[in-house]
Amino acid sequence: EGYIGILTSGGDASGMNATIRAITRSAICNGYKVKGIYRGYEGLINDEIRELTTEDVSNIIQRGGTILKTARSKDFETAEGREKAYEVMQKEKIHTLFIIGGDGSLTGARIFAQEYDVPCIGLPGTIDNDLWGTDLTIGYDTALNTIVECVDKIRDTATSHERIFFVEVMGRDAGFLAQNSAIASGAEAAIIPEDQTDTDQLEEFIKRGFRKTKNSSIVIVTESPTGKGANYYAERVKKEYPQYDVRVTILGHLQRGGSPSAGDRILASRLGCAAIQAMMEGQRNVMIGIRNDKVVYVPFAEAIKKNKPIDKSLITVLNELSI
Ligand code: ATP
Repeated sequence: EGYIGILTSGGDASGMNATIRAITRSAICNGYKVKGIYRGYEGLINDEIRELTTEDVSNIIQRGGTILKTARSKDFETAEGREKAYEVMQKEKIHTLFIIGGDGSLTGARIFAQEYDVPCIGLPGTIDNDLWGTDLTIGYDTALNTIVECVDKIRDTATSHERIFFVEVMGRDAGFLAQNSAIASGAEAAIIPEDQTDTDQLEEFIKRGFRKTKNSSIVIVTESPTGKGANYYAERVKKEYPQYDVRVTILGHLQRGGSPSAGDRILASRLGCAAIQAMMEGQRNVMIGIRNDKVVYVPFAEAIKKNKPIDKSLITVLNELSI
């Protein structure tokens, strides 16, 4: 009876399509019917919904972005908006909602599920890897690989001109992309929000004597909502060390798109199937995650906890290898 509904919400991430495909096919395989909701919560409120068949999701596993489109919905943050969304779900006969998105999207789902008796199941779709209870989020591995490819190219220029490059990457409050792309690209340092304790990371880095033994330096910096991004650090170095040739590259939106990595496709496929399994087990209001290579169900309240810890040993790895 009825349908399951799938939506993608918040920032797009590679592997969202693979997730839509997995949920749709696994649902149909287990005897359910599926509806796709366009433009996230906005489309749920505005009834932009149509049935998805197995053919509708063919040939999308390799495509970046999301065929369902995504949006940020101010209306869904209001009680009236969510009431409208609930009415549309009733009208469309959607009994269970599958939300693919980041912590904002799952926060919305949590509030919605508290107000109305609708089972919601979340899937971690964000390049930031900042959801609790899951080792990985869908889209993170692809974004990481894209960043590393870009930094490899920047390094050619940095070395040829003996420059210091500050490369700004996405992540908002989370340093996973910066820390791990720095390790993977052989960068000299990463400036991440999790490590902004008492010592200034730039000072640390300068104290360790950057450029002493090197003919170029690359520092990866997490974008910053408070203005302490790559430009901030570059300006400081320029002022304090005018002898250095300092440049900034902000990678921006090229980090989001592109064909998903094999890792993200497999993760999306596993979590998508597990999401249908979870529904059949009567689970609700959980995010499907992966921990130690096993599927886990993480209650929304846990998943959206802020400041998912970054493994501090990664900082040591980077420091030891950048002497
Ligand atoms: P990303 O991390 O990739 O940016 P996200 O899911 O965190 O993705 P947000 O823009 O934070 O992206 O949230 C997406 C949408 O989720 C919002 O536009 C809004 O519709 C809904 N949402 C976020 N927070 C709330 C809230 N407190 N109450 C209701 N809905 C919310």
